[in-house]
Amino acid sequence: MNVAAILKAKGGVVTTARSDVRIEAIAGLLAHHRIGAIVIVGADGKVQGIVSERDIVKAIAARGTMCLTETADAIMTREVTTCEPDARLDRVMSTMTTGRFRHVPVVENGKLVGIVSIGDAVKHHIAEVELEAHALKNYVLAGSGG
Ligand code: AMP
Repeated sequence: MNVAAILKAKGGVVTTARSDVRIEAIAGLLAHHRIGAIVIVGADGKVQGIVSERDIVKAIAARGTMCLTETADAIMTREVTTCEPDARLDRVMSTMTTGRFRHVPVVENGKLVGIVSIGDAVKHHIAEVELEAHALKNYVLAGSGG
């Protein structure tokens, strides 16, 4: 399975914000949309960074709640790992595990076309494994005449 199949099921909507948006507003977006990360984009729509709930918790732990009036620019991760729609799901899962992050924006020809979370990846991986197990069971049953 590839990333395009996941986006087909969940859609390509990505919640984004500009880097000058306050961290308190970013937290509001995360809570409102029940998501774990916001992709930070420039005026051209290109990915500039990512802010996850973990970045906000880290900033509060380091500087207190005063940091909430700072902007996303102060805490975003700038080196964002992205993937293309034709990326294989198992590769993306392994990238997340190795990189210790749970979100990968999907970019095609420089344009943001979706995002895959570890939750999306696990859900589709389990469905894939179940389908394989079902097919194998049917194969064995057919072979045994049952
Ligand atoms: P997460 O597990 O996604 O909540 O993110 C954990 C940390 O990794 C945070 O500092 C994020 O800013 C960062 N992060 C999240 N996704 C990515 C990504 N695709 N590429 C690089 N860093 C990321």
